[in-house]
Amino acid sequence: MEKEFNKKLNHLTKVNLARYSTMRLKSWGYLYELESFHEARAVIQELKKQKRPYRLIGGGSNQLLSSWEEGVYLKLPKADLHLLSVDEKKMTLSCDASTTVNAVLQLAKKYSLGGFEVLTGIPATMGGVAFMNAGTSLGEFSSLVSFIEWIDGEGNICSKEFLTSDDRAKNFSYRKNHFCGEGEVITKMILKATSRDDALEEKITKYLNYRKETQPLSSKTCGCVFKNPAKEMPAGKLIDGANLKGVHVGDLFVSTLHANFMENRGEATYEDFVALVQVVKEEVFRKFHVELELEVKI
Ligand SMILES: Cc1cc2nc3c(=O)[nH]c(=O)nc-3n(C[C@H](O)[C@H](O)[C@H](O)COP(=O)(O)OP(=O)(O)OC[C@H]3O[C@@H](n4cnc5c(N)ncnc54)[C@H](O)[C@@H]3O)c2cc1C
Repeated sequence: MEKEFNKKLNHLTKVNLARYSTMRLKSWGYLYELESFHEARAVIQELKKQKRPYRLIGGGSNQLLSSWEEGVYLKLPKADLHLLSVDEKKMTLSCDASTTVNAVLQLAKKYSLGGFEVLTGIPATMGGVAFMNAGTSLGEFSSLVSFIEWIDGEGNICSKEFLTSDDRAKNFSYRKNHFCGEGEVITKMILKATSRDDALEEKITKYLNYRKETQPLSSKTCGCVFKNPAKEMPAGKLIDGANLKGVHVGDLFVSTLHANFMENRGEATYEDFVALVQVVKEEVFRKFHVELELEVKI
């Protein structure tokens, strides 16, 4: 096993990374596709030994992959769907971190697991969602979490239970978790429904329809580019207020549907993204004296 992955690591060639992120920006880099979380542990330990930097890719819906000479992108393994299950009595759902939000929501609907609507429309893996504490205007991932297992920087298997709302508040905040650092790997989790909710399917459909009308969900984007500076001050409103809808650098446009999204309408590059972010930040600061902070990882 060790020999096999070492051989693979030492003979990587650069690949086009466009298909590994939802924004599909053109860039080239070394990519290692992991077969399992077990392999992730060994590969990360080897990369650390070689002092070679790496970055994890889950669904690639919240990160932009730049051309990278020094490091390796690690594409997390495909989901083990045998781990996707519901305990009806406890109202809990277990899954592997590579399971998609979509697969989780399908099962949640089947068992009327109330509270799961907070994840509606997030095109991601559950590991990415947990890492980012992703959420919508209906709520955040942290409201559901009951248990998480992850591999830390030294290759140790760690786990945490979240029994009270205090545990959740200490370990998660807006688009952040506070226990698993960048490069550590979430492997599996258990989520707990907040109630039994026979209207779950209806809630999900309604919210999804609303999102389709107000966000460019079929375009090549990375979701919201900037964090909301405050609850009552959404970044999209500020960008719209600065008249930036439709402004573009190359093929990358500030969406006309939702100003906090940027759409790759052709062959946009990572450099176009950096330049457009700069334009938006400067203009919003000039007009409102507010410093926008990136939500997407670059
Ligand atoms: C159309 C669209 C709509 C979106 N809507 C929303 C929304 O409503 N709410 C919201 O919060 N986000 C939204 N996003 C952003 C994105 O879906 C979330 O941030 C999501 O949590 C990212 O998950 P991912 O699996 O794609 O992770 P990636 O983008 O691959 O990675 C994001 C970060 O998580 C880390 N990571 C990924 N998997 C793991 C793992 N298993 N263990 C440890 N670290 C990991 C990566 O290293 C990286 O730092 C949207 C994106 C798009 C394209």
